[in-house]
Amino acid sequence: MFRQHASTSMRLFAQSVRTLATHANQQVTRATRHDWAKSEIEQIYESPLFELIYRAASVHRQNHDPKKIQLCTLMNIKTGGCTEDCSYCSQSSRYSTPTKASRLVDVDSVIEAAKKAKENGSTRFCMGAAWRDLAGRKRGFERILHMVREVRGMGMEVCTTLGMLSAEQARQLKEAGLTAYNHNLDTSREFYPEVITTRSYDERLGTIANVREAGISVCSGGILGLGESNADRIGLIWEVSNMPEHPESFPVNALVPIKGTPLENNEPVPYQTLLRTIATARVVLPTTIIRLAAGRQTLDETQQVMAFMAGANAIFTGEQMLTTPCSPWDEDKAMMSRWGLEGMRSFAQDNVARKEGLRISSDVPVAESSKGAADASATSQAKTQPTP
Ligand code: SF4
Repeated sequence: MFRQHASTSMRLFAQSVRTLATHANQQVTRATRHDWAKSEIEQIYESPLFELIYRAASVHRQNHDPKKIQLCTLMNIKTGGCTEDCSYCSQSSRYSTPTKASRLVDVDSVIEAAKKAKENGSTRFCMGAAWRDLAGRKRGFERILHMVREVRGMGMEVCTTLGMLSAEQARQLKEAGLTAYNHNLDTSREFYPEVITTRSYDERLGTIANVREAGISVCSGGILGLGESNADRIGLIWEVSNMPEHPESFPVNALVPIKGTPLENNEPVPYQTLLRTIATARVVLPTTIIRLAAGRQTLDETQQVMAFMAGANAIFTGEQMLTTPCSPWDEDKAMMSRWGLEGMRSFAQDNVARKEGLRISSDVPVAESSKGAADASATSQAKTQPTP
């Protein structure tokens, strides 16, 4: 009798220690920090890969619904002929590539593409134009503002990538209803000049600051396989982690080498490096959406799913990336259903919803059904609703 009582007490004691430890862990991993040292990020990045993925999966469950993957569709609204010299890009006019330059598309073709994307389950629609900036493009910019209004009017998240942006242009885009602006840092400050010489790292940061100031969500990440080192991948994550607000979206691209560009013969980035980068970004940027972007079609299904386990929670799906292939909706939806994954609704991310003036209605448990990698039962994620 005594032994039975003692063993029950021991069990209860062990349980409360575990609970306390779990809560302490949650305190640490859920906190969003803006003062990361490079050495701390390096320590995470260099940890044994399986341990790193487990940790990232735990942080992911504490901050996101792990069943949800955001489906985004990308449209190139103005292809090629860009004066910049980004050495990976087929749209630069400095290189002889298969990409042909074209003019800015009309509004109707954007509406048609966005409708199709929405019908197929995409909740974010991104439009990219290949140019340095909007200087001297007054009419083109007005057309883009029209596109933004139309797509936002469909209830989709709308994102653009239009090169460098002034504070006034950012303000007008916000007024038109732009949800997010993509402006990648690409790599570390140290390695950046090896990749691009026509615009500086600080100019990129300047555009990001203008976007922030206008109240637009930031999408800014990098490309792996440029010839960078681990220190550069760590440097990129460090750079965004120390911003006053983390980017709401961090795309991780694997270089798709394009014939005619200076990087055409680059070796593909090892899969483990891609995973390591995703997992480190997830730990350091807990509330950010980590976007598995270009190069995804080179991964098989289990490799993609492992990336989701490591914290990636958005993909581009549809007919085409800007200039490289993309997995079609049907294939992606079938893959997701085989693994119990679902598309994310628009404005599901709190920090994006707040910038849209959407109301955070209530705390609801996140990951009710995902108690495997981490005990997420005490964590929550707010639901959003349009403000009446
Ligand atoms: S990445 Fe953008 S800015 Fe750079 S060359 Fe390509 S289109 Fe131009």
